Amino acid sequence: MDFMLLILAVLSALHIMVPSVYYVFMKRIAEKKSWNLRLDENYEPTVTVIVATYNEANVIVGRLQNLEELNYPKDKLEIIIVDSASTDGTADIAKAYIKENSLSVRTLILEETQRKGKARALNYALQYASSEIIATSDADCRWVPDTIRNAIRYLSDPSVAAVSGQETLMNPDQSSATRTESQHRKLFNYIRVGESKIHSTIIFEGALAFFKKELLKRFDEPCDDSGSALNLVQEGYRTILIPDVSFLNPFSPKWNKKIAKKTRRAQHLVEIWYRCLVLDLKGKLKLNPWISRVNVFLHIVNPFLFLVFALTSVFLLVEYPAALLAIPLILLIPKARDSFLLYVTNYFFLLQAIFMQAFGRRQVVWKK
Ligand code: GDP
Ligand code: MN
Repeated sequence: MDFMLLILAVLSALHIMVPSVYYVFMKRIAEKKSWNLRLDENYEPTVTVIVATYNEANVIVGRLQNLEELNYPKDKLEIIIVDSASTDGTADIAKAYIKENSLSVRTLILEETQRKGKARALNYALQYASSEIIATSDADCRWVPDTIRNAIRYLSDPSVAAVSGQETLMNPDQSSATRTESQHRKLFNYIRVGESKIHSTIIFEGALAFFKKELLKRFDEPCDDSGSALNLVQEGYRTILIPDVSFLNPFSPKWNKKIAKKTRRAQHLVEIWYRCLVLDLKGKLKLNPWISRVNVFLHIVNPFLFLVFALTSVFLLVEYPAALLAIPLILLIPKARDSFLLYVTNYFFLLQAIFMQAFGRRQVVWKK
């Protein structure tokens, strides 16, 4: 029995310590380490921004206006909307908007006859993109005017193949669903920037990603953002997430919507780290192996230790009922409550994603 308890204690300690230590370590690196890049401030390549849309009638015009306001030479910018047979008239609305307003930026609307997922749509659009840099974005997010300039700077270094930015919520204080998401973002942004400063992060955001076309060739399917980043790292390049560029994203204040979205994202994370694990085992991984191993631990192993930790906690509560007093403390302090909710739900999403991955259920298209 004592031996059993010792094992539970060790597993629980690993469960808590690995993420905590990794976070503290990466935060320090994100704040202190230099990029080791040679940046050319005069670098001004041509850029194609591809926005994949499926049923985005409500936001597509706002997105076009937002892209037109970007602070970048108009003759070096091109916008491609690639719509996959939306049923709400997204493509027609975009076409009408372009016809009625003479846009200063060359804008192309592509229409697929069938919905085959976002990554497929991006690859279709890629054939029509004529620029040196390919950027991807979503219909519902917003970029600030200097986004392209700030991101492009980093691509001037020949070792960097792709750059991504962080998500900032438009409504961080609206509900517990958005508060926890905002907290989650802040934690992980440090980790992704830290990893990028060491060499690369492969966790990319499709809503704000810039790729060198000559190196990209094709988007990974179905994981257009992180999968493409991993492929470029495997070719020997750096793919980085930078702190000075972020996109504004609306986030549903409702938990049921959040659960659907987070489950999908967790599936992508599990899938991509599983790919790294396999490459690492074959001795073929080009990403820093420790970045990969810690992330494999965090996304694939630790969700199971979460179960161990939860059972251990229940066991302790039964043995020492006085510890029950901690529960009102967690529930009454709003910040503690949010952190606790974030912690439990994150591991829940990952566990669900691991089972879906194991049983071969993967989402290529999702409900909108
Ligand atoms: P989230 O931000 O990760 O929740 O994902 P969204 O649902 O906002 O999708 C990201 C972008 O991909 C949006 O602009 C969607 O309209 C677009 N999208 C999603 N599925 C498809 C698809 O099957 N085809 C195309 N062309 N775009 C899609
Ligand atoms: Mn979105």
